[in-house]
Amino acid sequence: MPNKHNFGAGPCILPQEVFEEAAQAVLSWGNTGLSILEISHRTPEFESVVAESVQLIKDLMQVPDGYEVIFVQGGASLQFGMLPMNLLNDNETAGYLDTGVWANKALKEAKLFGQVNVLASSKDANYSFIPKDFDIPSDLKYFHCTSNNTIYGTQLQSFPKSPVSMVCDMSSDILSREVNVADFDLIYAGAQKNIGPAGNTVVIVKSSILGKVTRKITSMLDYQIHIEGGSMYNTPPVFSIYVAMLNLRWLKKQGGVKEMERRNIEKANLLYSEIDRNSLFKGTCAVEDRSKMNICFVMNDANLEKEFLQMAVAAGCVGLKGHRSVGGFRASMYNALPLSSVQVLVDVMKQFEALKK
Ligand SMILES: *Cc1c(COP(=O)(O)O)cnc(C)c1O
Repeated sequence: MPNKHNFGAGPCILPQEVFEEAAQAVLSWGNTGLSILEISHRTPEFESVVAESVQLIKDLMQVPDGYEVIFVQGGASLQFGMLPMNLLNDNETAGYLDTGVWANKALKEAKLFGQVNVLASSKDANYSFIPKDFDIPSDLKYFHCTSNNTIYGTQLQSFPKSPVSMVCDMSSDILSREVNVADFDLIYAGAQKNIGPAGNTVVIVKSSILGKVTRKITSMLDYQIHIEGGSMYNTPPVFSIYVAMLNLRWLKKQGGVKEMERRNIEKANLLYSEIDRNSLFKGTCAVEDRSKMNICFVMNDANLEKEFLQMAVAAGCVGLKGHRSVGGFRASMYNALPLSSVQVLVDVMKQFEALKK
């Protein structure tokens, strides 16, 4: 049984009961007499896993009619290219909001397929804030944003009103707060940061935007092929989808996205108030843009960081080391991380302050 407080950025913590049920299914899955690892994806049992997972996402996110939910592979990184390949003709322009490394990678890929207009960027400030002062021209094919910047700890607190299709990389905050899916024409998210284990990527797409590019698309990168195949055009990541289903069931049982949002606000408030109170620590990004999923902070005296990290590790906190482009610490607090783990971290911060007084 895992006994650490897992603040890792992804793959990340999932609920204990999901681990237990998944472990059981590896040994023997339901009444099949088989392990989930050996079962054919063409069995009615597994087809019902895919159907239930899709339905859970639709229910939890209140996905309106006219949208499809599909599972593909290749991570969010493949979506950086697959999305413009399916939506953007060579002579058309897409607008991108450059809010971090992932957003930047996404726009680089889009340049391979069409024209890119970077509407705003906070790159010069090491992505420490979300630019807000920009217009979205109405002649763009689509507008792309990243809802939560996993590495820098910033998050769009609200989404701009877009006159064109809005598409969004929600990899690190999907299902953590309520969003109005109807405001978006496409949402994608790598599973390993709130949905389930790595290997699966969720795409929610409005059907009417597809089939409008003139280029030829290889089958595996064509959204329409995956929709027609019910996410089983080829062998899907069976185990990853199965565990995602267990996690989605857990989420629903806990009270759904609304309840997750309440808990995530409570967890984030607990840690941010300690960062702001504690004389040794400070946050790294604009207060109004602070993420509730990935909380980045440093020490006023960087020489103390190693010692603090050791003390946190001794208290069972893992995954806290900040990304190399920000330094310091990053506490990722995805849905399954309990408030009690955040309290352990906060207590270590208090103890460390007392030690240094
Ligand atoms: C982790 C992450 C990615 C990359 O995901 P992969 O599944 O590893 O390709 C992309 N965007 C965001 C916002 C992320 O947090």
